[in-house]
Amino acid sequence: MKRLVIIGGGFAGSYIAKELQNEYKITLIDRKNYFEFTPGVPRTLTQPEHAKAIQISHRKYLKNVDIEVKEVRKIGRNYVFAGKKKINFDYLVICTGSEYHSPFKEKNMIISARSKELLEKNKELLKAKNIMIVGGGLVGVEIAGEIIQRCKGKKITIVHAHDTLLERNNYRSQKHAERFLKRNGVNIIYGEKIVKNKGKIFFSDKGRVFTPDLVLICTGISPNYYLIQNSFKNSLDEKKFFKINSFLQFDDYDNIFAAGDITNFREEKTAQNAQRQAKIVVKNLKRKKLGKPLVKYNSTKTPLVISLGSYDGIFEYKNFVITGLIPGILKLIIERREMLRRNLGF
Ligand SMILES: Cc1cc2nc3c(=O)[nH]c(=O)nc-3n(C[C@H](O)[C@H](O)[C@H](O)COP(=O)(O)OP(=O)(O)OC[C@H]3O[C@@H](n4cnc5c(N)ncnc54)[C@H](O)[C@@H]3O)c2cc1C
Repeated sequence: MKRLVIIGGGFAGSYIAKELQNEYKITLIDRKNYFEFTPGVPRTLTQPEHAKAIQISHRKYLKNVDIEVKEVRKIGRNYVFAGKKKINFDYLVICTGSEYHSPFKEKNMIISARSKELLEKNKELLKAKNIMIVGGGLVGVEIAGEIIQRCKGKKITIVHAHDTLLERNNYRSQKHAERFLKRNGVNIIYGEKIVKNKGKIFFSDKGRVFTPDLVLICTGISPNYYLIQNSFKNSLDEKKFFKINSFLQFDDYDNIFAAGDITNFREEKTAQNAQRQAKIVVKNLKRKKLGKPLVKYNSTKTPLVISLGSYDGIFEYKNFVITGLIPGILKLIIERREMLRRNLGF
């Protein structure tokens, strides 16, 4: 069997490992020993026992895969270094995704430490009276919705650099989110950026001063690119995302693929898109074995579900928007389905 190394066990990497575990001799290298359903993390901050429902140890669902819980810092033409251990490959898939602010995403963690951390964050949240959320995108809006539902009586302020929430989404979604949050007492400050802080005192670019008890930073992602910055630096675009072709390969190295948040497709960085790319990588690695021509990835708009607590939400697909209870519940159904697939191995 050919040797396939996958770096990163998030949505893309864990999917590829699961689907190809009987076709290749696979090593999955991840700096965490578990898969976490990231879209469920905002709920976990207000309901820490929910962590169990969104985390699963890699070993549980990847029975036929060697797992290395290590960080990759160096990659060569046909080897990687997992910590100090050199691992050779015939094929490599890089699915290192992106970094996000703590506590939403963490690195170098084992599952028990992560659950403890989420519990600690929840205690801080329960103690805080005055909460500032920096960023009114998808994550900022969702966490505000969770706090409203499960931690009543908090003063919540969202400071958002743009003049509307969810600025890349449909107008109806923006307005629904705004109405929901304002109706529940959230103070939304538009067109302002937090530019510096001294301890817990925060300053905006318009000279406003904030003194929250708790701050949740919910602004943009940054790609985990450093592992290729020496060996394949020409494969990085100006924002440090990976430049790959429509077969999801590096142009000059047709045995190296990438999928997920790390790629430079101009599309929303979502779990759904990460898995859509992963599906193409799976197809292409199967086709490689059979000597068949590879298939292309088509970047296209996909449906998006945004929850506002458990009982309200937004479903959006192009110009079609549904708001209210059904999308609120839909989010939980997607989470259950995704975790069940990993638990039961289908
Ligand atoms: C709070 C939050 C809420 C979100 N909500 C939604 C939502 O509702 N719907 C949706 O579709 N998307 C949502 N997203 C986005 C979604 O989580 C990401 O698009 C998705 O996680 C990307 O998957 P990925 O596999 O590319 O990377 P990731 O999930 O980031 O996984 C990358 C993996 O690589 C590992 N790794 C990184 N570098 C190294 C290295 N050097 N060596 C070894 N391992 C490494 C990491 O440990 C991690 O396990 C949300 C994101 C956040 C932060």
